[in-house]
Amino acid sequence: MSTKQIIILLGAPGVGKGALSSLCVEKLSCKQLSTGDECRKHRSEGTQIGKEIDFAIKSGRLVSDNVIIDMVDKWLEVTIQDTSCIILDGFPRTAPQAEGLLTLLKQESYADFKLHIIQLVLEDQKIIDRLSSRIVCTNKSCQAVYSKLYERFKPRVDGVCNHCGAPLVRRDDDAPETIAERLKTYHHHVKALLDFYQGVGCKVTILNADQPAQKVFEDFLRIVDSR
Ligand code: AMP
Repeated sequence: MSTKQIIILLGAPGVGKGALSSLCVEKLSCKQLSTGDECRKHRSEGTQIGKEIDFAIKSGRLVSDNVIIDMVDKWLEVTIQDTSCIILDGFPRTAPQAEGLLTLLKQESYADFKLHIIQLVLEDQKIIDRLSSRIVCTNKSCQAVYSKLYERFKPRVDGVCNHCGAPLVRRDDDAPETIAERLKTYHHHVKALLDFYQGVGCKVTILNADQPAQKVFEDFLRIVDSR
């Protein structure tokens, strides 16, 4: 079995983890797991999990570690054999999740992997600007992301997804008060997460997210290739 690349993208909501993941899927044939997308799917399908996590998502708080680790475990189980590159977008977000992931990856079937941990950084005010202008596709199997603010991320037709034609809306957790709560939650947990990785000897590389998506991708490739 060849070595699998497992790429963990850390960073505040809206920093550009999703955009970078999409480029990795498109250009490197990676498989992307966005725990945020998985949570939203559960919510819109009204599953038992969806009902349990509804309040956390609406209020900008984190879903419990156990629920998230279980989601990731199930996803890895069906995906890991079919790909040589996995992008984890928005997971782990807490130290217990990071520990849970390492435990999962120690299982025999995941034995041969290389972990790249990359933290995208951008100042809070720019994140707030990005999130408050973000609109997303309402088709739950598409979930494409656009911006009302930045010309190159606007949809071709106002309010309509370029890919599938479904209507675009603002995510309910992109309301101003929820953005503030999500940023607070991120800053609250990220230090313990970084301390955890330092404690187990995993290097975290910083990536400047304050540049166009293509440039972020080029920097990302340099980081991954250099390791
Ligand atoms: P995101 O799209 O990554 O910003 O995630 C949207 C929401 O889903 C978050 O505000 C959390 O409520 C929930 N969520 C996504 N990923 C996680 C995670 N790894 N741990 C806990 N909650 C999560």
